[in-house]
Amino acid sequence: MIDHNFHSQLKNHLENSFYLGIDVDVKSPELCIISLSGTNLQLFNLEVKFKGDVRITILLKPEKYSLNFVNQLSQSSIEQREKFISIWNLIGSKFVNFTINNEQINQEAFLNKRTNWNSFFIKFTKAPICEEGSADSITETVLNFTHDIITMVLSLVDFEIEGFSEGKLSKIEINKYERNPVNRKICLMAKGYVCEICGFDFQRTYGNIGKDYIEVHHTIQVSEMGADYIVKPLKDLVPLCSNCHSMIHRTKPMLSIDYLKNEYLNRDKDSSL
Ligand SMILES: [Zn+2]
Ligand SMILES: [Zn+2]
Repeated sequence: MIDHNFHSQLKNHLENSFYLGIDVDVKSPELCIISLSGTNLQLFNLEVKFKGDVRITILLKPEKYSLNFVNQLSQSSIEQREKFISIWNLIGSKFVNFTINNEQINQEAFLNKRTNWNSFFIKFTKAPICEEGSADSITETVLNFTHDIITMVLSLVDFEIEGFSEGKLSKIEINKYERNPVNRKICLMAKGYVCEICGFDFQRTYGNIGKDYIEVHHTIQVSEMGADYIVKPLKDLVPLCSNCHSMIHRTKPMLSIDYLKNEYLNRDKDSSL
């Protein structure tokens, strides 16, 4: 009914869309724990249950030691909650039950009521599992739903979500490291607001509105960081213009600065152009 390698597919699927090292630790055929690779941060318990091949339930709960994470989620801003609700609607509001502190909560209450969360869970139920006429296998369908539910929760922390306008929750980039204001500041004070690959300078092109604008790229794959990894802003962070930054992240694993710089410098030699 579902592929035996569902869990490794889930790992790949999540890593590719979140640009984030993910471990999926299998506890039983129905239960797994999702954590950030290279750290001891366990994020979720995920239970996937089938009733025959007609009905599926996916239950996502924070891992029992992840109180800090739950706390961070409960402090989410209105904008983050609006993102959460838009994903909830994309998944289909009737399929999703959202429970905080053992009380089921509707979208309006979620947006307007601020409470401290001690616990939460999201339960997704769908029957039949696949849309009629869909070419996706059951495994792919379950992967996609799981991915969307996790996306929903991660929209409450500092992740940036792009491109779900067509109902595809496809591309999330972790920018926790790239957004950290202190590290960012140190990097830019040292390196300036000029793209390290192509030399683009927002102020030179756009005038005052571009002053002090640039993106900051974190060069270490999150999966390569140890548990106590501390960002070294001069070594790990690089100022990049938005185009170069997008190109760096176009592949998985992402490109290195040197590789893309070399491609950029030698672009005219590419005879296929
Ligand atoms: Zn650039
Ligand atoms: Zn980046």
